[in-house]
Amino acid sequence: MNKRLNNIEECYSCGLFIEKDYKTNLVQRCPRCNSKLPVDKELSYDSLYYAISAILLFIILNIYPIITLDIAEKELKTTLIGAVLTLIEQGFLLIGLVVFFTILFAPILNSFIIIFVYLQQKLNLNIVSKPMLYDSFYFFKHWGFIEVFIISIIVTYIKLIGMVSTTKFDIGFYVMLIYILCFYLSNKKFNAKNILGD
Ligand SMILES: [Zn+2]
Repeated sequence: MNKRLNNIEECYSCGLFIEKDYKTNLVQRCPRCNSKLPVDKELSYDSLYYAISAILLFIILNIYPIITLDIAEKELKTTLIGAVLTLIEQGFLLIGLVVFFTILFAPILNSFIIIFVYLQQKLNLNIVSKPMLYDSFYFFKHWGFIEVFIISIIVTYIKLIGMVSTTKFDIGFYVMLIYILCFYLSNKKFNAKNILGD
């Protein structure tokens, strides 16, 4: 019974239940309203690879400085973690913690959850329940604001031009751009509904 239900898809426009045709590679359409049916791709590992790359890039990104400033012949370099620590040291504890959570913690946990989901499925384990994984995946996805951080760095950079003799983006900044791309793709390719069920 359950097996048979897996072949039924509901049309999201008109609600008609349609039996899926797995033999065809063509896009299936609803016979009543002609909307396209969602394509169930086979379990793809793309998301997993992007998530692993994201974590590796994240480690590299925290080794190299993001921005280098020359102030009064003193060279100032800052890494991502360094920036958060500076905020906390300067007394902006709350802001520092929010930045830490949204820029560092949430995106990294999001990638770890994706990896964990694949591992659990591959090894046929059931350590963490699927609804729990599903909820935490979306929680950390919504609380990750690394792209906002990139914009603020660029704005800061533009403001600093002229104020200090030389400002330049460092290796960390470029690593961060690739990191964000991997992070974004791992989320885009991650089919939560397909992998974790409804
Ligand atoms: Zn329809």
